[in-house]
Amino acid sequence: MKYDVIVIGSGPGGYISAIRAAQLGSKVAIIEKYPTLGGTCLNVGCIPSKALLDSSHHYYDAVHHFEEHGISVEKPSFDFGKMVDRKAKVVETTTGGIKYLMDKNSIDVFEGVGSFEDATHIKVTKNDGSSEVIEGTNIIIATGSKPSTLPFISIDKERVITSTEALKLKEVPKHLLVIGGGVIGLELGSVYKRLGADVTVIEYAPTITPAMDKDVSKELTKVLKKQGMKFNVSHGVTSVERNGDEVVVKATNKKGEEVTFTGDYCLVSVGRRPYTDGLALDKAGVKVTERGMVEVNDHLQTNVSNIYAIGDVVRGAMLAHKAEEEGVVVAEYLAGQKPHIDYNLIPGIVYTWPEVAAVGKTEQELKDADIDYKAGKFSMRALGRSRASGDIDGFVKVLADKNTDEVLGVHMVGARVADLIMEAAVAMEYRASAEDLARICHGHPTYSEAVKEAAKAAWDGKPLNA
Ligand SMILES: Cc1cc2nc3c(=O)[nH]c(=O)nc-3n(C[C@H](O)[C@H](O)[C@H](O)COP(=O)(O)OP(=O)(O)OC[C@H]3O[C@@H](n4cnc5c(N)ncnc54)[C@H](O)[C@@H]3O)c2cc1C
Repeated sequence: MKYDVIVIGSGPGGYISAIRAAQLGSKVAIIEKYPTLGGTCLNVGCIPSKALLDSSHHYYDAVHHFEEHGISVEKPSFDFGKMVDRKAKVVETTTGGIKYLMDKNSIDVFEGVGSFEDATHIKVTKNDGSSEVIEGTNIIIATGSKPSTLPFISIDKERVITSTEALKLKEVPKHLLVIGGGVIGLELGSVYKRLGADVTVIEYAPTITPAMDKDVSKELTKVLKKQGMKFNVSHGVTSVERNGDEVVVKATNKKGEEVTFTGDYCLVSVGRRPYTDGLALDKAGVKVTERGMVEVNDHLQTNVSNIYAIGDVVRGAMLAHKAEEEGVVVAEYLAGQKPHIDYNLIPGIVYTWPEVAAVGKTEQELKDADIDYKAGKFSMRALGRSRASGDIDGFVKVLADKNTDEVLGVHMVGARVADLIMEAAVAMEYRASAEDLARICHGHPTYSEAVKEAAKAAWDGKPLNA
């Protein structure tokens, strides 16, 4: 069988790339080793984690916030099994939707492990050991990533777990130890904290979400502490031992002292590694970096001219929307178009409550690049909308060029900022100034008024409601 494009991996990078290539007239095949399509994102990532975050958020609200709205519920309770079942149904519906899209776009789906025979032939090995070889003029590697760990930690998938197991536990932990205060650790930590677990986060860096703007990390630490999460930053984990139903984590703090943490589960969320196992890249001569990423140029083309790679398996943020954009770019490039991605405008989001969202440069990045900037900040508590809902934590911060007023970065903590951040991304795509944003009429009362006010604070230093 001969195809114009063969995509290996059906995550958001792979399946979107397959659809775009088919839309542009190519004959396309996609290979996925698991029975369901959608990759990490749909099966064990974005979608199931958000389903559990939403369920646990409803419960938390019932326990902690209904009363202030005048609603009495006699001792709210939850059925964890039902929550997990609901999550599984959400995943099933969503992955089923991808199968529908493949059929709709006449994309041939092959179930099995794809591996290179040479630069144009891919062997698909099924679960039962049988195999077939298909030929592609162009190949797109979209094999994603897997959770990484530390060399001395043995993940037993029962008590010492990764995000994959944390999404399908049979019980709510009594005390969840979370190694790594990044996005995944904080989101899954939030789920279990809301459901009554003690949650202790152990982070090597001096702040949680270390790559984000420092003000954001500070505010997020403050609000999550208020919710009862415990944080131990500047702690380097040295060992993780399981004793029966107990997990003991030892770490060294800033002063060089050994600190011991004991819990019943330990989530290891120290990042993810690009996944190329089983691809036999050497047979096609495709180069990978020392860290195992497939090497690509600006067109996401590998050193072998007809082989491309996208998403988590290449450099850059490990995010579903980044993978999708790259999938579109490669498909359009192959069709002779001139697509483009602005990697500076890929939003970063944490789905805790309040949510966190950012786009563009942090203050630290602007300082490091010697860019003269001004900052405008507006607190969520000053908004009528926030007071009406009771979601008063957080802020919006707009960073703009001191000379041109161009918006260079926007950082937010607050209710629904995961959706709000796109206003900033659109503005920055069109190189808006802080004044532009400040002069746009925003609906009232909305959380988005904080963007207008922060922009005005950055532009002329005079927010109206503060
Ligand atoms: C708990 C969690 C929460 C997350 N939440 C978010 C979020 O809210 N927003 C966000 O943007 N990102 C989130 N992410 C990250 C997101 O899931 C990834 O960035 C995204 O899935 C990467 O897409 P991809 O297409 O590159 O790879 P993947 O989604 O990893 O898909 C790769 C696919 O390739 C298949 N494959 C691998 N090798 C082969 C082979 N040889 N043959 C055939 N098939 C193969 C795999 O089975 C897999 O299905 C989250 C991740 C986790 C773990």
